[in-house]
Amino acid sequence: MAISHSGGFPRIGANRELKKAQEAYWKGELGKEALLEEGRCLRLQHWAQQKAAGLDLIPVGDFAWYDQMLNHSLMLGAVPARFGTDSDCEDIDTLFRMARGRAPSGSPAAACEMTKWFDTNYHYIVPELHKNQSFKLSSSEIVRETREAIEAGFKVKPTLIGPLTWLWLGKVKGEVFDRLDLLDDVIEVYGQVLSQLSDLGVEWVQIDEPILVLDLPAEWHQAFESTYNRLQGKNLKILLATYFGGLNGTTTTVVNLPVEGLHVDLVRGADQLTGILDRLPSYKVLSAGVVNGRNVWKADIRSIVGKLREASERLGDRLWIAPSCSLLHSPVDLECEASLDEELKSWFAFAVQKCQEVSTIAGLLSGDLSSEVSAFLAASDRAVETRSQSSRIHNPAVQSRVAGISEGDDQRHLPYSERAIVQASRLKLPLFPTTTIGSFPQTVDIRKQRRLFKKGELSEAAYVEAMQKEIRDTVNRQEALGLDVLVHGEAERNDMVEYFGEQLNGFAFTSNGWVQSYGSRCVKPPIIIGDVSRPDPMTVNWSRYAQDQTSKWMKGMLTGPVTILCWSFPREDVDRSVSCMQLALALRDEVVDLEKAGIGIIQIDEPAIREGLPLRQENWPAYLDWAVKSFRIAASGVRDETQIHTHMCYSEFNDIIEYIAAMDADVITIETSRSDMELLDAFEQFEYPNEIGPGVYDIHSPNVPESMWMKQLMKKAAEKIPAQRLWVNPDCGLKTRDWPEVEAALSNMVQVATELREEL
Ligand code: GLN
Ligand code: ZN
Repeated sequence: MAISHSGGFPRIGANRELKKAQEAYWKGELGKEALLEEGRCLRLQHWAQQKAAGLDLIPVGDFAWYDQMLNHSLMLGAVPARFGTDSDCEDIDTLFRMARGRAPSGSPAAACEMTKWFDTNYHYIVPELHKNQSFKLSSSEIVRETREAIEAGFKVKPTLIGPLTWLWLGKVKGEVFDRLDLLDDVIEVYGQVLSQLSDLGVEWVQIDEPILVLDLPAEWHQAFESTYNRLQGKNLKILLATYFGGLNGTTTTVVNLPVEGLHVDLVRGADQLTGILDRLPSYKVLSAGVVNGRNVWKADIRSIVGKLREASERLGDRLWIAPSCSLLHSPVDLECEASLDEELKSWFAFAVQKCQEVSTIAGLLSGDLSSEVSAFLAASDRAVETRSQSSRIHNPAVQSRVAGISEGDDQRHLPYSERAIVQASRLKLPLFPTTTIGSFPQTVDIRKQRRLFKKGELSEAAYVEAMQKEIRDTVNRQEALGLDVLVHGEAERNDMVEYFGEQLNGFAFTSNGWVQSYGSRCVKPPIIIGDVSRPDPMTVNWSRYAQDQTSKWMKGMLTGPVTILCWSFPREDVDRSVSCMQLALALRDEVVDLEKAGIGIIQIDEPAIREGLPLRQENWPAYLDWAVKSFRIAASGVRDETQIHTHMCYSEFNDIIEYIAAMDADVITIETSRSDMELLDAFEQFEYPNEIGPGVYDIHSPNVPESMWMKQLMKKAAEKIPAQRLWVNPDCGLKTRDWPEVEAALSNMVQVATELREEL
């Protein structure tokens, strides 16, 4: 009988109960005991849901008050000194202070850094590592939760992030040293935790080492053998889990590590199964991660079972079935979805349904012919069938348009050096032109209008009027500030991806499909269900209206194809590049329509290009080729006199600068303020030919930047990039700020540009 299990379940709750409780606690509206109780309830409920869905082994350790990496830092006693050397790692307020800088008790301190978990949109709290740091078991939360689950009658499999992954994702602070120097001490603590779990009678523990799918230095690969040798013999069995990719070149080493089982991601690394089967030692369990934990589509159960037949015959009971990775990355329960029509609903599976899929697959492999299993299989067959034919998914007109993309479609007519001359004589902008990145404060009032409109309590005409009033106000304020290139302010946009998705064909939206992004923050990504096309212009009326309010240049504002793709759930029936090209064509039409409406400058934001990079470097060129091409297709339908901008907000350009340059945007604005213009080095060394607006202040902080400081930065920038090609702007959109801050900051910024023009 194949065992069904999972590496983790979403912790937020079907109705974001965790978020609500956390935020109430932070505000002082909920007591600590009540918060802890909410956590207990959620855990119990999630274990029960997974058991009811048919899983044999229920994960414990996937719950976290903020983040699972942070849990491990507390387990190891890795609390940075600024939070107090005698901080209690068992105290939830220590955890919250590390995550967010403050908590109801304890002194505030600078929060720990946060960064993306592999290529997901989940952010973890980065461990801080020091030379000669020592570790000691400081929180036994995982042991307590395991006991809690056992006492509640669940058959559990505690799940930990492995010591090597924890260290690899940590960041060295202070004196530089080799993180592997800390490994011995870290293993010691893991060993103690395993012993305590074994004392509870636990049979299996899952240890996640997703770094095994990355390009790891040899010494890190070599460290696995000795690490797991030392963790052996605690009287329990270890299932070593890898996910988010295949093992590639390292299969032989990994299958032979001294553990009792191996979990692999057969969604991302489907081709690794045979190689693993041929090498797997005969005592080991293989857990096949066959249900996609990263997407919302119903699994093709018949096809999965077919592909697992051989494995099942060869391994018998040693074959386990699971989602590809933790279900942390999928929404909780499709049954809580009110707004999807029946057909869409029949195509999707969220975390609860994915557990049912896993247990159905395990059942089918073991010859279970119960009516429940057959009904589930039939529903999966039906979804495969209807999806393959639905006109909501397949649009021949879109497909033939993509097939008809020709050579020159991704080229502007003139090269940048000549376009720049045409644009300069048309736009007549001063040296160091000033602009902003697009959004202005999303005030309470704006959000209220939008909410009322969505609920049908505000007529379309009244809504349009309210937004136009916002636009007028935003334009007036920018004129008063003396900015050179204005924006309409994006008041009408809830979110830079959802706004476009809602107006494009080929998208679906959930009303409750939340996924944790970090801490209490959740996102509700749109779902790209089929071929994408643009039935009507999406932004033209707003931009035209804004342009009509001013004699200055109004910048049109669009989200780029790669970013729309990366921040949505993608299709599984076609490659990501297919949807990206379709999005590019839809946006190309929008760009052309904006030009026709008299908009002379159009910005196509691509903040997600970097995060879309594949985990393995060997796959970068292929991705970057189609990503850059999509941007160019979106941007190249216009005349040379129309100036195309792009905006990116991440902090690493060195390794992809040639691709950034290949996007050939006339102007790129980037986030740079926090790194003292160091980011421009990549552009300088590459001799990046087009115009650049290095962000002169960090919009994430409420502090009003001083002119002196911004001027210093611009002078530094002018040492690296010729002044004729520099713009002056903040480093990202201003929607999260308040007007008083924004006006004070921009006024200082405009003053800097004025002074620079006089001085240089
Ligand atoms: N135009 C968008 C804004 O200003 C860009 C946001 C982003 O880069 N994430 O809000
Ligand atoms: Zn940005």
